[in-house]
Amino acid sequence: MTLHIQTPLLESGAMSAPRGQIVWLKMEAMQPPGSFKIRGIGHACEEYVRRGATRFISSSGGNAGIAAAYAGRRLGVPVLVVVPETTTERAKQLIRREGAEVVVHGASFQEANALAQSMVTPADAFIHPFDDPLLWQGHASMIDEVAAAGIKPDAVVLSVGGGGLMCGVIEGLRRNRWESVPVVAVETQGADSLSKALKAGQLIELPGITSIATSLGARKVALQAFEWARQYGVRSEVVSDQAAVDACVRFMDDHRVVVEPACGAALAVAYDAPTLLGGYENVLVIVCGGVTATVTQLEKWADDGV
Ligand SMILES: *Cc1c(COP(=O)(O)O)cnc(C)c1O
Repeated sequence: MTLHIQTPLLESGAMSAPRGQIVWLKMEAMQPPGSFKIRGIGHACEEYVRRGATRFISSSGGNAGIAAAYAGRRLGVPVLVVVPETTTERAKQLIRREGAEVVVHGASFQEANALAQSMVTPADAFIHPFDDPLLWQGHASMIDEVAAAGIKPDAVVLSVGGGGLMCGVIEGLRRNRWESVPVVAVETQGADSLSKALKAGQLIELPGITSIATSLGARKVALQAFEWARQYGVRSEVVSDQAAVDACVRFMDDHRVVVEPACGAALAVAYDAPTLLGGYENVLVIVCGGVTATVTQLEKWADDGV
């Protein structure tokens, strides 16, 4: 048993060229808690229970908190999520709906995270949203599924926040002996902590997050994400919030699936595949999903501008 499901791998008629380049979609938006995060978090939570944890603590008001709450409910383990005051009512509801306790504390993630960390006892497991090798092992299963489907991509496109998804995909490519397959890592302007670090040649911390793609809003990527991106030769791309939102709206029409701007960042590059990814025949896009944006919000951003 795993807490995540095996997701569809779809050929995108809308993104593929009529003859030539095929764009494949790994539909992580279909995971029960709405994003890929359950792969890594589910795997980590199961491992922490084996090691004796009797409670999970998270400090994410986004998809990681929702995935931790879902994992806790499925495993029968209580979950506490400490979120900052900026967290939307909707996100708090989604966490509570899974039976987790929500504590609101502090003006920003930093304060909420500090309180959450201070509450961790030896009987608890702290569930980090992106910086934990157990998460990467779990995320890597999405690449195992692509390999099992018999599709070998010649490029992988994904979104980057703190870099957990990217580390997991690189781990998956390595364990399937696909380490020569290039990875294109996409961020939005104002959440571009990996892009800036790669340009600077060292880990950097953004002074703040100005992008609406809040799920990409890690001011600093995980050290391992930075190091692996350099070692692996990850190609970094940055798109505007507008491009990410427009890609989400277009994706709703094309594939009838709602995703967050965080996911729209990777979709924007995929929609531009003939230009940005010319020369690749089989492009795999990780449709990472996300539940924190409603259709109404996406349409408003698209119409009024962001
Ligand atoms: C968490 C998340 C990301 C970014 O993942 P990282 O592991 O932090 O890089 C992208 N999209 C969605 C929908 C997410 O929930």
